[in-house]
This record gives sequence, structure tokens and C-alpha cells, in this order.
Amino acid sequence: MPVNADAAGEADTSVPTEVDASEALPINELFHSLQGEGKLAGVPSTFVRTAGCNLRCWFCDSYHTSWEPTGAWRGVDDIVDAVAERPGDHVVLTGGEPTVHEASADLLDRLSARGYHTTVETNGTVFRDAAIDLASLSPKLASSTPTPDRPPVGGDADLDGWTERHEERRLDYDVLARYVETYPVQLKFVVTGPDDMPEIERVVDRLRETTSTPVRDADVLLMPEGTTRERLESTRRVVADLALEHGYRYTPRVHVDVWNDAPGT
Ligand code: SF4
Repeated sequence: MPVNADAAGEADTSVPTEVDASEALPINELFHSLQGEGKLAGVPSTFVRTAGCNLRCWFCDSYHTSWEPTGAWRGVDDIVDAVAERPGDHVVLTGGEPTVHEASADLLDRLSARGYHTTVETNGTVFRDAAIDLASLSPKLASSTPTPDRPPVGGDADLDGWTERHEERRLDYDVLARYVETYPVQLKFVVTGPDDMPEIERVVDRLRETTSTPVRDADVLLMPEGTTRERLESTRRVVADLALEHGYRYTPRVHVDVWNDAPGT
């Protein structure tokens, strides 16, 4: 059963009648590559990319899973088998936003039971109780919000209320705190420039006030905005200098450096 986009351009990942949502996920793509970002950058990993997202960042590098979802519903057993056909022992569940799907927890549990290290790439707005070895939280800043002057990359210029919806949903400190208290985490911020730093400091401070579990500076990662080599050329030095200045960690985007914006990397 294909995954469709409705007339408003929102991911229609509603469950077809013949699909059991506790046993299936809308999968955009499944591929083997190098982890491009974060603490595990460079580690060969199998990526399971789900379709659909509850946010609409203008710079989204996977808009084809969010604004223009493609792919098909696949059973959890089928996905586990497809992962097992690929080499390595690291799996990254990404999106879109994988946590909006109930079956993501079951998939993670089954992969973990088979000995895989599991990373979940999430915007941190929905909590899931599952076998997660690294929760890669990417809280979304005000600079992510789509506007008429800054419509999403590859998306429909008609925002259809997404500016307001995105603003309401993009930060949930109780959910972020639960992740910090439950799993090893990294907080990964997409940085467009120095203007983002005051908000990043506010988000980190407020999260530290929300939970007694330590959030170390080394767990806070600054990642240059850019989904092409050309764009990264203009952001990476700026963001590296900001990481040095603030004592946070810099993360490259290995997949963009190596493969530019090729799909399936
Ligand atoms: S939260 Fe992630 S997947 Fe969703 S729109 Fe933003 S960047 Fe794209």
C-alpha cells in the first residue's frame, strides 16, 4: 500500500484498513551507508527512514518523507529481515519523524533483541519507550519555522497553516527531559549562524532546569545547516567557530561532504 500526500501537502500516513499499525510502518527508504552526523559519524549503519513528520522545517533534507511522502507500508518482520540482509550491527531509525508511529517501538525492540545498536533520530516532540541505545534529539529552533519568505526546500509554497502548527509543536521540554532521563542522548542543533546561539543556550538551560539528569556540554552538538556541499562551504566554518566559542561539540555532515545531496546516502 503506497504512502500518499493529501491535497494539503501533509503526509498522509493514515493506516490503510488492511494494515495493522502496531505491526507496520510507512517506509520511505531503507539503505546502508555511513552515519553522517553526531557522535557516531562515520559508523557504517543501516538506515530505516519512515515517512511522515509532525513538523515542517523549511530546511528539511528529507522533505520527500514529510511534504511529499513516498514509499510503502511494510511489516515490522519484513523490515527486520531487510536490515539483516545488510552488513553491520548499527541501525538508525530516522524520518520524517519515526516516533509518530506506534510500531517504531516494536521495531527497535526486535532489532535490539537481535544484537543491533539502535539510534533514533527524532525531533524530540513524541516520547517512545523502546530499546534505544542513542536518542539523537534534534530540537527545532525558531529559525526552522517555515514562512512565506522561507518555504520548505522542495515543498509546496502554500504553507496551509504550518507556520503556526510548527511553532506550537517544535519544543516540548517534558518530552525532551524524558529522553534525557531514559536513554543516552545527543542534542543536535542545526545552526544557520550566530543568531541561533541565544536560543540554543535558552533551550539547553531550560532543559537542564526541567531535569536533574546532567546534560553535558559534550552532549550538545552544533551542526552546520546545509544539504549541499556548496551550502556547507558557507556554514561549516562559522558553526565550528561557534562550537569552540561556546564549548559545545561540532558535528560534520559526512554524507553531504562525501556524496553531496544524492538520495539514499
Ligand atoms: S523535524 Fe526533521 S523530518 Fe521533520 S520537517 Fe523538521 S527536519 Fe524534516
